[in-house]
Amino acid sequence: MSGIDNLPPLREVIAKHDLAAKKSLGQNFLLDLNLTAKIARLGGELSGADILEIGPGPGGLTRGLLAEGARRVLAIEKDPRCMAALAQIGAAYPGRLQVINGDALEINPLDHLQAPIKVAANLPYNVGTELLVRWLTPPTWPPFWDSLTLMFQREVAQRIVAQPGSKAYGRLAILSQWRSDPQIVMELPPEAFSPPPKVNSAVIHLTALPAPRFPADPAVLNKVVAAAFNQRRKMLRSALKSVSPDIEDHLIAAGIKPTERAEQIGLEAFCGLARSLSTG
Ligand code: SAM
Repeated sequence: MSGIDNLPPLREVIAKHDLAAKKSLGQNFLLDLNLTAKIARLGGELSGADILEIGPGPGGLTRGLLAEGARRVLAIEKDPRCMAALAQIGAAYPGRLQVINGDALEINPLDHLQAPIKVAANLPYNVGTELLVRWLTPPTWPPFWDSLTLMFQREVAQRIVAQPGSKAYGRLAILSQWRSDPQIVMELPPEAFSPPPKVNSAVIHLTALPAPRFPADPAVLNKVVAAAFNQRRKMLRSALKSVSPDIEDHLIAAGIKPTERAEQIGLEAFCGLARSLSTG
């Protein structure tokens, strides 16, 4: 017994099912179930929600989510070796865990979930960043999720919450902060994982806002921000030349000095620039 449920400790599960961590799948497992239950609680009230978990592995966070009262968990895991361990968890929580063996980048989970939906994941960072960008840029807002509770390399988490004037500030900060409220809610040292990764990690919690903080057309905002930060050392009047021939007029209309650089411009001003460009 493990402390949070009647299932065996994770080290035993990993040994029994031969789940030696694979580098190619970015596998760094959390083995402390008190810690995974704590991470689950960072997702807020779970009892009335369906949880989408990406990359459950041997199921440490899955068990945390279920023990903390999640209504249902849909877990998508690429590694077929994890299926037997996850089935054992499903048997201990009848009707509350559904597992799909597949690539989260290819699967649409929405057929299997009912609102309200929260997302929880401890993923390899490249997959995590790609999914985060997708979750932040749906065709309509509000999105399918109420909140995202995600483990990232600490450096990526810092980029999500970064403010103007810092090196970490860029497209990910603007995408995240425009329509959600992101906060770093826990930091973890490498030793929290098995095997330990080379870098520190952090859990980031993002709550979806009902509407964007400042109005802007998402496609125009995205285009401006991508162009501005692609050449972040250049003054905006030259970094954004390709966006509009009258870019200096639009910058001035949005209250931005054409000689400033992307790193100095806040979210509100970027949204103002997108609005000026949209109205011609
Ligand atoms: N959640 C577990 C934990 O906290 O111990 C495992 C975390 S491990 C960092 C990442 C997990 O994501 C692995 O189990 C890996 O097999 C899985 N994974 C990697 N790429 C994936 C993908 N594209 N789709 C679904 N799962 C993936």
